[in-house]
Amino acid sequence: MKPAPFDYVRAGHPDQALELLASAGDEAKLLAGGQSLIPMLNFRLARPALLIDIGRLGELSYISRQDGTLRIGATTRQAQLERSKLVSDGWPLLARAIGWVAHPQIRSVGTVGGSVAHADPAAELPVACSVLEARMTVAGRSGKREISADDFFVTHLTSAIEADEMLLEIAIPAAPDGAGQSFVEYSRRHGDFALGGAAVVMPLDAEGRCVGVRITLMTAAPVPWRARTAEKLLEGAAPELAVLSAAAEAAASEINPTGDIHGDSSYRKALARTLCLQALTEAAATATPPNATGMDQ
Ligand SMILES: Cc1cc2nc3c(=O)[nH]c(=O)nc-3n(C[C@H](O)[C@H](O)[C@H](O)COP(=O)(O)OP(=O)(O)OC[C@H]3O[C@@H](n4cnc5c(N)ncnc54)[C@H](O)[C@@H]3O)c2cc1C
Repeated sequence: MKPAPFDYVRAGHPDQALELLASAGDEAKLLAGGQSLIPMLNFRLARPALLIDIGRLGELSYISRQDGTLRIGATTRQAQLERSKLVSDGWPLLARAIGWVAHPQIRSVGTVGGSVAHADPAAELPVACSVLEARMTVAGRSGKREISADDFFVTHLTSAIEADEMLLEIAIPAAPDGAGQSFVEYSRRHGDFALGGAAVVMPLDAEGRCVGVRITLMTAAPVPWRARTAEKLLEGAAPELAVLSAAAEAAASEINPTGDIHGDSSYRKALARTLCLQALTEAAATATPPNATGMDQ
């Protein structure tokens, strides 16, 4: 199928993209890497009258670190994130997540901002943003605003970005020192969208007990799902197998994933439990208490 007719403008500057958005409103769509939007146009699931191409806005293509926070411009290609030493050294969970996204050809064109704005609960970067408590900066007619990951992902393929707004930057704080980190997923073929997945950040206190563990499940709900009940269950507990298993059970019991031809709801629930336990176990194995890293001495 071919897309419905549309006009096309390549924005030369972020301000121009915002002006075009402000005048076209709901009629316009931003085009970044096109790896999700173009298939949607072809299937006529989206019929914008105007495409505003922001894919070559160099001003929004960067990866930097400021005060312990990773800052990623929205048009940064996914492949740049994958190759970044800053990311692999300081944000290992993000580095793990990006390796699971699609195929190299898609990552070389697809943007970080496009994946986050697309808000697919089966996508890796939204899950990483959720568990790492990222903050998204968006700009629109009334200026800039910052949105927490919890508020950003509203429902399936819907974010908190308004029709006249554009995502500018994703800011990702570093995980606490010594925190164990893990990102696991399962798909039938590498590069396919995952049938399930789990990401964990596990800080420990000086006695080696869990403090402020974060768990996000993938493909489990219409948004990346923070498993708060499981997180609470782990608070103050030593990360031993029985406790981790109970937490994985609690995480799976809070979700009601939608089934499809690739796996029904009960299969996906069981998969979520297994992957959550795998991620928790891996995070526990890599976590070190603060006194062991020398930070609190
Ligand atoms: C065969 C195939 C397999 C794939 N497998 C995976 C996978 O396993 N995991 C995964 O995560 N992804 C996968 N993808 C999707 C891919 O990662 C996309 O690149 C990504 O979802 C969208 O990024 P994009 O830059 O291409 O955005 P686009 O397709 O250009 O845009 C996507 C949406 O975001 C909006 N948008 C883009 N940029 C902005 C912005 N700055 N501000 C506001 N709105 C914006 C657009 O208007 C559009 O609605 C796959 C894609 C294909 C074609």
